[in-house]
Amino acid sequence: MKEALLYQKLDKDKVQCDLCAHRCVINPGKKGICKVRENNGGILYTKVYGQTIAQHVDPVEKKPLYHFYPGTKAYSVATPGCNFHCRFCQNWDISQITHGEILESGHDATPEQITWKAKQTGCRSIAYTYTEPTIFFEYNFDTARLAHEAELKNIYVSNGYMTHEMLDMIIPYLDAVNIDLKAFREETYRRIIGAKLQPVLDNLKKIKQMGFWLEVTSLIIPGINDGPKEIRDMANFLAAELGVDVPWHISRFSPAYKMKDVPATPLKTLQAAKEIGLKAGLNYVYIGNFASDRDMDTKCPQCGYVLIERLNFGIIKNNIKDGHCPNCGTKIAGVGLG
Ligand code: SF4
Repeated sequence: MKEALLYQKLDKDKVQCDLCAHRCVINPGKKGICKVRENNGGILYTKVYGQTIAQHVDPVEKKPLYHFYPGTKAYSVATPGCNFHCRFCQNWDISQITHGEILESGHDATPEQITWKAKQTGCRSIAYTYTEPTIFFEYNFDTARLAHEAELKNIYVSNGYMTHEMLDMIIPYLDAVNIDLKAFREETYRRIIGAKLQPVLDNLKKIKQMGFWLEVTSLIIPGINDGPKEIRDMANFLAAELGVDVPWHISRFSPAYKMKDVPATPLKTLQAAKEIGLKAGLNYVYIGNFASDRDMDTKCPQCGYVLIERLNFGIIKNNIKDGHCPNCGTKIAGVGLG
């Protein structure tokens, strides 16, 4: 086990973890809400350093990031556990895991090995994804520094619940982030997710101000967050606070984990949500987890010219020239677009 970063020692050997907005106060012998950080005799340890539960080479589009080096590969890494307990989790088998399972499931991989594998497999970036990178911060912090030395980019796919202290530490090494905005009601975050909405909104604004590339994903779930008013509130927040160029991925829910009785999101709900996003002024709104590939294409917000044609998670054609629309010359938001 490795000693954790970002915690305070309290009296009677208690500790306070300052990695995410839960800020758990942990008694000796106990763990935090994420179950992967343990107080051992007044010292906080991370139990998942180097303990990967998934390593895959993915298209960067699968993160999803559509405006960050499109068509490149991201070496994708996860360790077990999460600081959220979403009843609808689509990756629950690796995120909602018990302590015993963590010990059994991990596959040792040092930051040096991850960086080496990313280079060997021709990846442009390393993505900390599938579970929550915040709770394996020490591991991805060390990996991200090596990745930059090896001229690889670093990507977080996150629920956005980290503290500002953590964000300040990772800033120099992060290049792109996709944050889940899972709902726009505090009550939903509290009841279905086990967290609060406001820290996520605050972090979205801070991440945007920090200047690294940001995209946002919202899983639309029937009966939970699919009302037009809530979707409009989300879209208006994104346009007003993050700017109209932030790409918004509207993603289809499939029955999973503790919400197997909820039906998959109908296509018409997703298309209505996309319309709401466009009406709010957002320039790039995509539908994900659905067969309609044309809803995954990038179009010029000025003239409607198809800039990037996508099929599943692959790219059929990228028409962008030097970051601009070849038809009308409009600058297209993103990094490494072609
Ligand atoms: S990472 Fe978050 S959930 Fe885990 S111990 Fe720290 S404050 Fe608690």
